[in-house]
Amino acid sequence: MAKGRKIYEGKAKILYEGPEPGTLIQYFKDDATAFNNEKRAVLDGKGVLNNRISEFVMTQLNSIGLPTHFLKRLNMREQLIKEVEIIPLEVICRNVAAGSISKRLGLEEGAPLPRSIIEFCYKKDELGDPLVSEEHITAFNWASNQEIDDIIAMTLRVNDFLTGLFAAVGIKLVDFKVEYGRLYEGEMVRTVLADEISPDSCRLWDMSTGEKLDKDRFRRDLGGVTEAYSEVARRLGIIKEDKGGAEILSFGGE
Ligand code: UDP
Repeated sequence: MAKGRKIYEGKAKILYEGPEPGTLIQYFKDDATAFNNEKRAVLDGKGVLNNRISEFVMTQLNSIGLPTHFLKRLNMREQLIKEVEIIPLEVICRNVAAGSISKRLGLEEGAPLPRSIIEFCYKKDELGDPLVSEEHITAFNWASNQEIDDIIAMTLRVNDFLTGLFAAVGIKLVDFKVEYGRLYEGEMVRTVLADEISPDSCRLWDMSTGEKLDKDRFRRDLGGVTEAYSEVARRLGIIKEDKGGAEILSFGGE
């Protein structure tokens, strides 16, 4: 499919104009960044895996009636999505203490939380995406009270669904980050899930060994990053058993 003009380039993805008005093409790069861009690498095949894993998850969420921006995967690295206005929040949902909440509140990594906790960060790279409260969000008009309510309800639903999906293949969903957008349909505006859901944006631990199968392998220099992402794809049945992924996914070009 012919791509239109590049409209945005982020750390791991590029957005192009889509073939129809109201559509965009989301291209998954192999670039990995962490610690607000301080650490960078190119991980061969990561974009291909994230495209496939995010397609799988978004398709399932669409099918349970949770609205997302996802329309269809076009090829190894691209998907067709609905154009939305991104709400400038990173919405984090946590089931188990890890990462920044462990540091901030002195919780041991791996300690189950008393209940699922949702946090909001203001999407602003220059500021390192600071944690904000609902007070900040409404005072600065980043989202309305109604949108916050919708976002919380949808995120808890995503959490329940993903927790089950991953538990069925022996993976613990520790936490994840999602983003939402405003979808304008005539007079109507709907809040829909946007961006991606992949091992770049989730913490996924093997249930029996505790092995990390997510971006912490990159952040913490554990090695085997794309191998871990392939393992997630293999367990979800996205790539075939015992072929090491590369063969099936043909990591080259596109
Ligand atoms: N996360 C993300 N993008 C970000 C920040 C966090 O996808 O810019 C994800 C991260 O992969 C983890 C969850 O959100 O699954 C919670 O991250 P945390 O706040 O613990 O941040 P970190 O420890 O990565 O700084």
